Amino acid sequence: MDLEDHFKLITKHKLSYLIFDKWQGDEGLVHCFTTKRGGVSTGCLSSLNLGFNRGDNRDFVIQNYQRVCDVLQVDLKSLVLSRQVHETNVVKVEANDAGNEILHSSKWESADGMYTREPNITLVTHYADCVPLLFYAPGHSIIGMTHAGWRGTAGEIVKALIDKWVNLEHIPKDAIQVVIGPSIGMCCFEVGEEVAHEFTTRFGEQSFIHYDHLTDKYHIDLWQCNKYILMACGIKEENIFTSGICTSCHEDLFFSHRKSNGKRGTHGAFMALRSLGDEL
Ligand SMILES: [Zn+2]
Repeated sequence: MDLEDHFKLITKHKLSYLIFDKWQGDEGLVHCFTTKRGGVSTGCLSSLNLGFNRGDNRDFVIQNYQRVCDVLQVDLKSLVLSRQVHETNVVKVEANDAGNEILHSSKWESADGMYTREPNITLVTHYADCVPLLFYAPGHSIIGMTHAGWRGTAGEIVKALIDKWVNLEHIPKDAIQVVIGPSIGMCCFEVGEEVAHEFTTRFGEQSFIHYDHLTDKYHIDLWQCNKYILMACGIKEENIFTSGICTSCHEDLFFSHRKSNGKRGTHGAFMALRSLGDEL
């Protein structure tokens, strides 16, 4: 697997996860993208399934979360899980939201995007081909994440988060860094005419929408599409980093909804602000 510059695959206590090394050196931030490896789930959920909705034993899923928490040195009680419905709702997470959707039921009906300024809160979003986008503004104590499948991408969920950061939190756009994690690439993300039409209507005939004459199908590059929206929002190109890893091409390491015909577990993206000197 060819990783783009600044991305590294790390294996610790048998758990493999991907990090962005520019952020790894920042003592005030914890983050990772999990892979399939390092958990206790079995069968098509083997082994690090983080989805409670995949038919897994709940205790196994909790054990899997605990393993990730141990590696990241964060407390299970600090986790705040999203409620993803392929929409564009972005919520602000406060300290008393700790445990959302894992230790108690969700405060939000939907939350495909979350952000927080609170230390000791670990944001978690879920994936198996959809695009994870992680947001950080070094020096401004703020982190966020959005989950963008084709609907969230076309609905510009990344803009919804940037608008909140800029208008409500007063974060300068040139301080915002965005990491686009492992997800289905243009190579494998084949869509029908209806979805392609949705994209061409919104974005025009861009290079990230490609028609394959041989298969009579369209391919969409969700990474470039999200990057295009971010740049239109005023995020600097040099502050957007794409891992370049297609989950469908790397089924040995990642869950892929498409490749497995839906028989798969779920990955997590994790992010927390660590107050220096504290263990979360
Ligand atoms: Zn691929």
